[in-house]
Amino acid sequence: MEFSKKARELILEQIREWDLAAKNYASLKKVRVKTFDYGDYHIDIQFNPERIVSSAAKVDVKSIEARPCFLCKKNLPPQQRGLSFKDEYIILVNPFPIFPEHLTIPNLSHTDQRIIGNFGSMLDLAAALDDFVLFYNGPKCGASAPDHLHFQAGIKGFLPIETDYSNDKCCREVRRIDHVTISHWPDYQRGIISLKSNDKENLVECFNRIYNKLQTMQQNEVEPMLNILAIFEHGEWIIHIFPRTLHRPAQYFKTGEKQLILSPASVDMGGVFITPREEDFIKISKEDVNDIFNQVCLDPLAVLTLIKLL
Ligand SMILES: [Zn+2]
Repeated sequence: MEFSKKARELILEQIREWDLAAKNYASLKKVRVKTFDYGDYHIDIQFNPERIVSSAAKVDVKSIEARPCFLCKKNLPPQQRGLSFKDEYIILVNPFPIFPEHLTIPNLSHTDQRIIGNFGSMLDLAAALDDFVLFYNGPKCGASAPDHLHFQAGIKGFLPIETDYSNDKCCREVRRIDHVTISHWPDYQRGIISLKSNDKENLVECFNRIYNKLQTMQQNEVEPMLNILAIFEHGEWIIHIFPRTLHRPAQYFKTGEKQLILSPASVDMGGVFITPREEDFIKISKEDVNDIFNQVCLDPLAVLTLIKLL
């Protein structure tokens, strides 16, 4: 689509004219990756030192109030340019990339990070940016600006979940509601609800039902903890919803040898774990990945129960 092309051109232009973007996109080409094989699927581990800004971000109310919001237009670096989307969002190049092409998409107003009421916009963005995977990190699930509504987008072909979705050893269709196909991932370490449909209204309706179910499980949270990926292809949306139970795993708060600085968000849920420290990249094991998913995600069986109750 035309809009997707414009966004990709913006990335190339910003790399040419903005030193920080040039430097970080160049380093990304040399980034180290290791792969854990779990049989029917794999998890990549990416050692990405620039991401320490996000992984170790302080997101408590006091720290957030004390800093100028880096997603508000008035605080953007002078070199940063953007593409307007429906006078509601601005598409920006993420200067601290994980993906070879990585966008940050803040709302034009400084309003809290919430998905309810904004999921339809996420679908519109995914359809317009159809070379990209759109993602949403909840205010306590990886968003480093919980006070400013935003999405991100990474170029397609990077996250293992994109291809695992069509592997029936990983993902199985379990229900249809209206025009939405609902799938479940029985043995993928993390519980996921996947939706597929070409009908936006039905998807929003189905998402709202899921949201309400999750909300009854986490009544003390400002919104149920979750990460979401949205992909648009062949005229249909594919949505992956990851219900979360914890923001950061116990390893994050340990000291010395036992510590792992890893703050799971949509990208990790999609199958690429980001380790900003080299020592963590080296020592993280297959068992650690399993243990982290167990701590921070709802388990597959609980997710299946939830799907049956919809
Ligand atoms: Zn802001």
